[in-house]
Amino acid sequence: MDKADARRVEKIATTLSPAEWQFHAKGQKGVVKENRHGELVTRLVDGACIFLNRPGFPTGSGCSLHQVALSRGKNPLELKPDVCWQLPLRREDEAAGDGHVTSTLRQWDRKHWGPGGAEFHWWCTESPEAFVGHRPVYEEMKAELIEMVGKEPYARLVALLDERAKRLARGVALPTRHCAPAEDAAPAQSSSGSGSSNCGGGSSPRCGRTDPLRRDTTRRGHPLALLHTQGSAGRP
Ligand code: SF4
Repeated sequence: MDKADARRVEKIATTLSPAEWQFHAKGQKGVVKENRHGELVTRLVDGACIFLNRPGFPTGSGCSLHQVALSRGKNPLELKPDVCWQLPLRREDEAAGDGHVTSTLRQWDRKHWGPGGAEFHWWCTESPEAFVGHRPVYEEMKAELIEMVGKEPYARLVALLDERAKRLARGVALPTRHCAPAEDAAPAQSSSGSGSSNCGGGSSPRCGRTDPLRRDTTRRGHPLALLHTQGSAGRP
């Protein structure tokens, strides 16, 4: 975590009670330390985070900050370190030569940690149990997404997905990333390639290319790939 985040978490820790936080007493000596790489991290107790309530604790096992947030009617992102509430979402910012920044939001995978990633067990993105939710990620993690990309890009994403859902319900062929927009194109019923689609013969499913979002919407709790761009002058 960065310094500002560390100070925020330290302040929040002072509001936790012994009934909420198993290692409340140990936490009075500090909850953040600098590791041997010079990074600020939460202190450990018996090899795990000092905020982690262990099995058998009256409030149940799990992150005490998360538990306290829920009991206080707050979103866990208000109490937990940034790195903790963002997981499993990952934002990559890529700056072009003209200063234009493209941010891509996707899930963390082992590869993002480099060679050390092979030792991680990414249950939150690699286990089938992580994909049993009944609400799409863009709804379930609305607060996290807005915090990471801003209200306006999130609203644009929701409008796009709502429109997509309507078209899927009507059986309208959707343009792929390879094709030009096909406003209200008729369902692809002809194999002649001369239908109403304006994709130049390449519209899914006629072109045989897979639309990644179309595929993903068939999965419950599908991962989300969200793009938004921000110009150097702050233009969307
Ligand atoms: S979510 Fe973060 S703060 Fe909470 S127990 Fe895990 S590492 Fe610690």
